[in-house]
Amino acid sequence: MTSAPPIPVSDAVDALNRVFGYPEFRGQQREIVEHVIGGGDALVLMPTGGGKSLCYQIPALVRPGTGVVISPLIALMQDQVDALRTLGVRANFLNSTQDLEERRLVEAEFVAGELDLLYVAPEGLGTAGVQRLLDRGKISLFAIDEAHCVSQWGHDFRPDYLALSMLHERWPDVPRIALTATATTATRDEIATRLRLTDARHFTASFDRPNIQYRIVPKNEPKRQLLDLLRTEHPGDAGIVYCLSRASVEKHAEFLTQNGIPALPYHAGLDARTRARNQARFLREEGLVMVATIAFGMGIDKPDVRFVAHLDLPKSVEGYYQETGRAGRDGLPSTAWLAYGLQDVVQQRKMIDSSEGDLAFRRNAARHLDAMLALCETVSCRRGQLLAYFDQEAPAASCGNCDTCLTPPESWDGTVAAQKLLSTVFRLKKERNQKFGAGQSIDILLGKRTDKVSQFRHDELKVFGIGTELRDTEWRGVVRQLLAGGYLAVEGEYSTLVLTDRSAEVLRGEVTVMMRREIPVQRLRAGSRSS
Ligand code: ADP
Ligand code: ZN
Repeated sequence: MTSAPPIPVSDAVDALNRVFGYPEFRGQQREIVEHVIGGGDALVLMPTGGGKSLCYQIPALVRPGTGVVISPLIALMQDQVDALRTLGVRANFLNSTQDLEERRLVEAEFVAGELDLLYVAPEGLGTAGVQRLLDRGKISLFAIDEAHCVSQWGHDFRPDYLALSMLHERWPDVPRIALTATATTATRDEIATRLRLTDARHFTASFDRPNIQYRIVPKNEPKRQLLDLLRTEHPGDAGIVYCLSRASVEKHAEFLTQNGIPALPYHAGLDARTRARNQARFLREEGLVMVATIAFGMGIDKPDVRFVAHLDLPKSVEGYYQETGRAGRDGLPSTAWLAYGLQDVVQQRKMIDSSEGDLAFRRNAARHLDAMLALCETVSCRRGQLLAYFDQEAPAASCGNCDTCLTPPESWDGTVAAQKLLSTVFRLKKERNQKFGAGQSIDILLGKRTDKVSQFRHDELKVFGIGTELRDTEWRGVVRQLLAGGYLAVEGEYSTLVLTDRSAEVLRGEVTVMMRREIPVQRLRAGSRSS
């Protein structure tokens, strides 16, 4: 490859205007860029779409030498480098997808000082070969992208990131800038400690994404609910539908296509070429829906994603925020929609219990899940709750652009219902030494003489038929909220219900259990933006 001549830039504003073609800096970009050009370390927290890339790309152009960018997004390096080259920036990358000859060429460019930016994968940087290479050229800065990957208790830990603590020891004079779109105060402190960014200046942008409308609805008939959402509010729009499993991705992509909505699948089980092709089509064509596992999306820069729909519960608030954050990067109104039901809680609790991690790992996973459940069950503003999770204050007590603000949910005193449900579980265990799933307890409360009820003579239980004041779906809501609150637990292969230490508090009437009234789907839609 023949190397292009460098673009002479006099300062940060000059680079912004002439190389990137933007008239002015956004938010804290100017401050960050000037701080790094001056040789300072920085820790940058900025939401997706906030403009993190320029924060290191411009200093790399202004400072002498090559800016080394550490990024886990190997699949995107080629695209990122191509985009920079179109602007005349001398960029290249080193990762495991290249053969020896390609690597040699890139290495030669770096050593000769012919690169403004060099992207490397974290696992590469840990090797002696790459470290020796870096010693042979001039480095202007290190940019550590997706820095939250260094956090062991975060939701996206990557062990290779731990080795990045050596950057400071090996190249003490090179400024470092760590960037992430997701971090609680605890994660931020962990990033600073693990990357030895003790003297770094922290830049924290607001995590609020006012153009995103957050909605979390009870999952009744997910397919129909999804179709309704896309047809009534997002016809012809591009969007992402997240599912937990590969099978579910395939099933829903097919379902949408059959119903006249152009959709593509994306998950780690597809071969690399299909994945790349589907991703490229999603980026380039208009109005495509990507049905995907969370393997899809990191680093995807498509400004006009109008909706992100979750058909399964995300494992953490960080994950939810990151995934929903892919909607509306262009600032136009967008929807973050999540359908969530009893089965989600059951499934995720089970996944945690049966995971191979140690106790600390499982506790951490449970903590992440509990925070996510709290967001789902809240009766106050979703945005407020979301920002509070990231230790930020909401602009107002009521945002006016989330489901709980648009259609305030009623809460009701569910203590008696909770007691009825818990006594059923208690009696099954105590009188019969039996454990059943949620469905059987609900049938018993409703006084339904199903085959299974007759077979086990559950119609002889004292609690049989004492819960007819609620409908089946409402009882499922009660079970879900009890599970979410830790007053009830699931166990074993058949997800049987069991009491917890906290169940007694409810049974003895020591606590009041306030519950969210399930809002019928019709009413939710009437209250939404499109009405
Ligand atoms: P992040 O990495 O924080 O998600 P990006 O760096 O990809 O965000 O930037 C998001 C979008 O905003 C990109 O399309 C980028 O070109 C654009 N952008 C960034 N800074 C500016 C600016 N100062 N003026 C105009 N557009 C900008
Ligand atoms: Zn709100």
